[in-house]
Amino acid sequence: MEDFQRFRVRPGDKVKLHRYDPGETEGVSKEEGDGVLHGLLEALGKLQYRLYAEHRQGLLVVLQGIDGSGKDGTIRHVMTGMNPAGCMVTSFKQPTKLELDHDFLWRVHPHAPAKGDVAVFNRSHYEDVLVVRVHHLVPKDVWSKRYALINEFERLLRAEGGTTVVKFFLHISKAEQLQRFEQRLEDPERQWKIAEEDYKERERWDDYVEAYEDVLTETSTEHAPWYIVPADKKWVRNLMVARVLVETLKSMDIQPPKPTVDLHRIRAAFHKAIADGEGKPRVKGKRKGKKG
Ligand code: AMP
Ligand code: MG
Repeated sequence: MEDFQRFRVRPGDKVKLHRYDPGETEGVSKEEGDGVLHGLLEALGKLQYRLYAEHRQGLLVVLQGIDGSGKDGTIRHVMTGMNPAGCMVTSFKQPTKLELDHDFLWRVHPHAPAKGDVAVFNRSHYEDVLVVRVHHLVPKDVWSKRYALINEFERLLRAEGGTTVVKFFLHISKAEQLQRFEQRLEDPERQWKIAEEDYKERERWDDYVEAYEDVLTETSTEHAPWYIVPADKKWVRNLMVARVLVETLKSMDIQPPKPTVDLHRIRAAFHKAIADGEGKPRVKGKRKGKKG
């Protein structure tokens, strides 16, 4: 997993998904991986805290993948590292009538992160060149122009909004998808997730592969890269997403703001209050069991 940069799609790469093994573990065991993940989630929380304090730039995380690829699970297991006060998740479903009466980015833009925030998209504007293409919901001359529009949109988010964009394609095998559908069938807690369309979409597997290959080839830019995440093993998926997020945040040169007050003066006032006997007495051994 150290070498996760090789899963980054470079601009100009022509992606063929069969070259990427969805079952990849990079020789790391689950036990090792879970230990590393723990540390990464802690780092993620600290970095997000700094981003929030800095209030100068945002992070947009896009999650895409076929049904059952683990978009929800990634949010549950990786985004938990972050404070919900500065992290918003938006799940994009079938567009409403009103949304369809606008351009495809209209419903997306309001959910881009504000300065200081992290926004997570569970599905995204990419559905408009995926499901929309596979199901011929708009003609080819409409969807084929969208790659360039998406690249421009993501450039705008960066240039005007100070937003860093990072995108994950959760790559699972067809066999793993079937296994996950089976688990949903067997587990009463998960049966609600079963959708009629899931099996219909499965029949269009090859069309989706082609549509995803074009997305990854056309829209992985310097300013908004795609990562192809081996996702048959959930712990590998979590580890890789967490690592990329930590590295991305580290690369953002986050500078928490300097205090706006005169610390000398505040400190003097503080010490005076203590000297005046306003503080709680600190009796040794009595302040264990910190609360709050
Ligand atoms: P789920 O993510 O399982 O809750 O399902 C959401 C459904 O909404 C999926 O079947 C998506 O393909 C569909 N969906 C999301 N965005 C769009 C879109 N722009 N056009 C058509 N269907 C969409
Ligand atoms: Mg679904």
